[in-house]
Amino acid sequence: MKKMTLKDIDVSGKKVLVRVDFNVPLKDGQVADDTRIRAALPTIEYLINNNAAVILMSHLGRPKGEVKEDLKMDPVAQRLADLLGKEVKKTDDCTGSDTKKEAEKLQPGEILLLENTRFNPEEKKNDPGFAKELASLAEIFVNDAFGAAHRAHASTVGVADYLPAVAGFLMEKEIDVLSKALTAPEHPFVAIIGGAKISDKIGVIENLIDKVDTLIIGGGMANTFLKAKGYDMAESLVEDDKVDLAKELMQKYEENGVNLLLPTDLVVAREMKEGAATQVVAANEVPAGYKALDIGPETAQQYVEAIKDAKTVIWNGPMGVFEIKEFAEGTMKVANAMANCRGKTIIGGGDSVAAVEKAGVTRDIFHISTGGGASLEFLEGKELPGVVALKDKSET
Ligand code: ADP
Ligand code: MG
Repeated sequence: MKKMTLKDIDVSGKKVLVRVDFNVPLKDGQVADDTRIRAALPTIEYLINNNAAVILMSHLGRPKGEVKEDLKMDPVAQRLADLLGKEVKKTDDCTGSDTKKEAEKLQPGEILLLENTRFNPEEKKNDPGFAKELASLAEIFVNDAFGAAHRAHASTVGVADYLPAVAGFLMEKEIDVLSKALTAPEHPFVAIIGGAKISDKIGVIENLIDKVDTLIIGGGMANTFLKAKGYDMAESLVEDDKVDLAKELMQKYEENGVNLLLPTDLVVAREMKEGAATQVVAANEVPAGYKALDIGPETAQQYVEAIKDAKTVIWNGPMGVFEIKEFAEGTMKVANAMANCRGKTIIGGGDSVAAVEKAGVTRDIFHISTGGGASLEFLEGKELPGVVALKDKSET
């Protein structure tokens, strides 16, 4: 079901409450990475240009329902003001009489950023009273926080009970790209799933069975699949309680005629640390005392080939311990293959996005999701509460 967006409503002269995802990394009291702030600019600029008074709200970090000095939104307001070249007012709370007064005074074209929503314990409880207070600040609710859409909180879901709720441009784009990939992908459709643990990604692997042409498995989770093939993985990270599940998944993929690629060679070391002595071994020859920490060069080459001519590629989860340079090669090769692929390349997952940045190829990727957890749940086929709460586009 298509959702209404801010283009479907008249915002002129209105007070518009916008849930953004400004949950950015901070360092020494400054915004260390403003990707998420930049991602919200199209919505904010559209609202300003269309004569709306813009009230922004977001969570930042995990303050656990208390005011934490180092998680205040001031550095975010500052960076947003710099990016827009425009004043951004800020309140010390997100509800209460002072906030209400500031919101009332706000003129069309002006911007107000509320304090961290998670300073209030009611936020995560999706408390109706708190949601109603937030809603009372405005006439329209725009949700542009795709990264928080998998959470049913007061600022993502609750407010939609009290205001007409529509999607912002970032939200719209994320939903469009991901749902198109799942429901009407161009083929060949390749998924690359990696990361530490199979248990984090079971839902995605299951949901993709009848959709993809090729499934590529890498990272720590590949070890559990390799063990399911009967290989001795020595000291590698293996989820022993998931070996049977891995077997079942492999069988299901085979029944569906999907090309399932697992590592045929691995980079191993005794220790997972910088400067460790590494070896490349066949996947069924991990020596005693060693751990598999990256896919090997032969495997990487096979994966690059499989990605090359794909029309749709989804990548979630690195191929190895890419944070350590000795084990980063496989992930870097996959990142470059994504960049060189001319199909629709989509990346979700915090670490995968970091890997692509490390490879310096972010510009060459079709879509980099701003929501790690949210994109994962989307790919699992789940409905995201923050999306469900938005108004449906009428059939007419
Ligand atoms: P994403 O954030 O992209 O969804 P995950 O959080 O699932 O990815 O997985 C990323 C983590 O997996 C990284 O910290 C990486 O070091 C780890 N990892 C990848 N391969 C291995 C491996 N072979 N052994 C142990 N950890 C691994
Ligand atoms: Mg991660």
